[in-house]
Amino acid sequence: MEPTRTTEADEAAEVRRFWGGLGLPGLVDVHTHFMPERVLHKVWSYFDALGSLPGDLAWRITYRAEEAERTALLREFGVRAFTAMLYPHKPGMARWLNGWAVDFARRTPDCLHTATLYPEPGVEGYVRAAVEAGARVFKAHVQVGDYDPADELLDPAWGLLAEAGIPVVIHCGSGPMPGKHTGPEPVARVLARHPRLRLIVAHLGMPEYEEFLDLAERHDEVRLDTTMVLTDFTESFLPFPRRALPRLDALGDRILLGTDFPNIPYPYLHQLQVLERLDLGPAWLRAVCHHNAARLFDLP
Ligand SMILES: [Zn+2]
Repeated sequence: MEPTRTTEADEAAEVRRFWGGLGLPGLVDVHTHFMPERVLHKVWSYFDALGSLPGDLAWRITYRAEEAERTALLREFGVRAFTAMLYPHKPGMARWLNGWAVDFARRTPDCLHTATLYPEPGVEGYVRAAVEAGARVFKAHVQVGDYDPADELLDPAWGLLAEAGIPVVIHCGSGPMPGKHTGPEPVARVLARHPRLRLIVAHLGMPEYEEFLDLAERHDEVRLDTTMVLTDFTESFLPFPRRALPRLDALGDRILLGTDFPNIPYPYLHQLQVLERLDLGPAWLRAVCHHNAARLFDLP
């Protein structure tokens, strides 16, 4: 049965019951999307137009609302800290997005100030400027950006971020759509040059789950986020292999809750429930839903 959303107040109460029951002070969600409204609306139109997912799945955006309503809802859910994942699809766009993100972080104190990058002349300069302006996390999107993350233009930026210990959420798996440079190999080349770079592999590396787990096992600073994986939606076409569950368990201090809010075709609560139904136990859930990110971002 498709998970359906109850009323907003009921859903918030259930989300709060989830983390309250674990004895947590709330959730930390490292993968939520906030971006300039007209960019976000373009993203929504893209999902609306997707008709070709296997099994005729439709991608209905559950939380299509104004920005203020979306931040208010995360607060009602008890998300203590979240991010503003934004990303360019062409050159000349990242600097502008980063400017918007400075303002967003200023008016949204519970958002971890987010920035992005693209392989282009000047990238080192604007990445440095973003770090100096207080960026706490970066987002890189290899499929949408259609670039090789090991492009030498990015090399100084990766070096700078590794040095500063600033995590980068990177969409580098080949799901739901492959790209010319998606998959573990280009990321492995980046890590060969920058072994201390704090990459957070989005979507547990979907669909190259096991290859990205290999990378995390080889590099202590590589983490993975849970965004959209293990949900009924994603399991129906890119299932996480059950035999890899013990590895998720063993990497329990480096798996971070991420959701893709608001661009998800099911309720927020569902992502939490599917983590719970893995049966890896309350200590694992506490680490994934709060402690790992709280430690990484030094939250009080
Ligand atoms: Zn995302």
